[in-house]
Order: sequence, then structure tokens, then C-alpha cells
Amino acid sequence: MSRYSVPMPDDIRAISRTGQHPALAVTCPHCGAHDRAPCTTRSGRRRITDAPVHPARITAWVIATAVCPACQVAPGTPCRVGGRAIPEPHPQRVQEAEVTA
Ligand SMILES: [Zn+2]
Ligand SMILES: [Zn+2]
Repeated sequence: MSRYSVPMPDDIRAISRTGQHPALAVTCPHCGAHDRAPCTTRSGRRRITDAPVHPARITAWVIATAVCPACQVAPGTPCRVGGRAIPEPHPQRVQEAEVTA
């Protein structure tokens, strides 16, 4: 259970102003770190040091927050190519999420 409510866009902007990665607003699918918590190693005991968050968390955050300019899918929907969902969002969508964060 998180003691935080579901993050709203205002909260995401607040996080980015503090210098933390805005992807902290979503749960990490790689290590399971909850919203607002930093990523940890898979054992869950130590914070990772080579990156602020796992790449999979950034992917999840991009998909959760941005409309894709390339394939026009809504937030929460994976990118599509030729009618099929693809695991990684289009680069344009990553840019879109970062500029609006
Ligand atoms: Zn993580
Ligand atoms: Zn797309």
C-alpha cells in the first residue's frame, strides 16, 4: 500500500522541479519500486547508482503519461505499428513526455 494517492500531472511537474526524474511518479516494472520511491537492485536492498531510474520505468512512465505523436495512441496504451503493440514507445513519444514533464 502506498500512502500517496494516484499522481496527477501537477505532481509529476513538482517532482521534475526537485531534480528527480519524473518517471519516479510510476511504479517501476523492473524492480517494483513504488511511486516516489527510488529504484533499487533486484534484491530490493540497495539503490541503483548508474542511472536515476531503470529504463523500463521510463518506458512505463512515457506510456502512462504521453500521447504518441507517431502512432496517436492515448496515455496508458502501448505504441502500435501496423496495428500491433510494440514493447518500446516511439522516440517521439519519449521526447513528448520529457518536454511536458
Ligand atoms: Zn527500477
Ligand atoms: Zn507510438
